[in-house]
Amino acid sequence: MSASAPIRVVSTEPDERIFVTQPHMAPLDEFIPYLEKIWESKVLTNRGPFHRQLETALCEYLGVDHLALFTNGTLALVTALQALRITGEVITTPYSFVATAHSLLWNGIKPVFVDVDPHTLNLDPKKIEAAITPQTTAIMPVHCYGHPCDVDAIRAIADNYNLRVIYDAAHAFGVRGQEGSILRHGDLSVLSFHATKVFNTFEGGAIICPDAKTKQHIDHLKNFGYVDEVTVVAPGINSKMSEINAAFGLLQLRHVDEALAQRKAIDALYRERLAHVRGIRCLADAGEAVANYAYFPILVENEYSLERDALFEKLREHGIVARRYFYPLISDFPMYRGLPSANRENLPVATDAARRVLCLPIYPSLAHEQVERIVDIIAQAA
Ligand SMILES: *Cc1c(COP(=O)(O)O)cnc(C)c1O
Repeated sequence: MSASAPIRVVSTEPDERIFVTQPHMAPLDEFIPYLEKIWESKVLTNRGPFHRQLETALCEYLGVDHLALFTNGTLALVTALQALRITGEVITTPYSFVATAHSLLWNGIKPVFVDVDPHTLNLDPKKIEAAITPQTTAIMPVHCYGHPCDVDAIRAIADNYNLRVIYDAAHAFGVRGQEGSILRHGDLSVLSFHATKVFNTFEGGAIICPDAKTKQHIDHLKNFGYVDEVTVVAPGINSKMSEINAAFGLLQLRHVDEALAQRKAIDALYRERLAHVRGIRCLADAGEAVANYAYFPILVENEYSLERDALFEKLREHGIVARRYFYPLISDFPMYRGLPSANRENLPVATDAARRVLCLPIYPSLAHEQVERIVDIIAQAA
């Protein structure tokens, strides 16, 4: 194929289906000036000007002091564990995206699954202590759906047993508790800027660090441990964000408040309309002062006429592609299910939630008429 051959489009049929999410993208014409700067400077990566600007802008927007950008959230998790030299066993939740536990396996760490709280579906602090052994070195909770974990209870346990805490905050962009950014909790917090997240840079991620020294160490780790031509201080990886992603992030940040306001309105509409549907429970917030409405999970209770999978199929027949986040549980995947803590009897709340949950479509451009149509389908089946 010659270099000038046109790119062939696979299908010209527009896809009318409504997916659980749709990436939020700033207007293309606003991105062109950023690209022109990159083409002029020929600085493509290695802590270039856009990378530095985005780190500063995100610290300001999120209300945190230090942040290191990454190529994606998973490598940020892997690097966070390296930065704190975590080994042995780490207590974590089975109710998350599989990358949470994979980051442990990539570091040769044994995940220990602990059940979740029935109201928040976050790691249940009351069940953590029983899972601590002499090998336990850290806790890795997830702010699931952007709803804050019980950070005070988790900190108390960690302090008591001298454990580190790394939050998988992939869902928690912009979320604030009563005392400010939820990302300030734990020894480190990790964000994802994947296409499907509330704030995206196509692919991307970040580690929120408590101090400049930790950030510098993490900055070395994400760039081969390289300090200068003759100094390499650690067996680092290459997981730094490129200039093109950082530039896009700066542009996206200019539109994020509007996107969050649109999500908030959709969340409110779903809650208002679904309140009347018997057997459908909307997951409540977890006391956050500022939420991000990243997902809209419902739980299909016994009083509803259909089981979750039947409702899932029914929505699909109408072109509504909801998702069963999080089913299967991480602990049910082949590389985890042999662990003693993966036993379903150890995880009754998570097991039940995985059987009932359905995440409905929510994204800034989703029309309110579409939300009403989705609710009508759910209500008619009831
Ligand atoms: C998206 C996600 C990740 C992984 O982030 P990537 O940027 O896609 O690597 C990790 N944990 C959770 C809970 C996620 O939802």
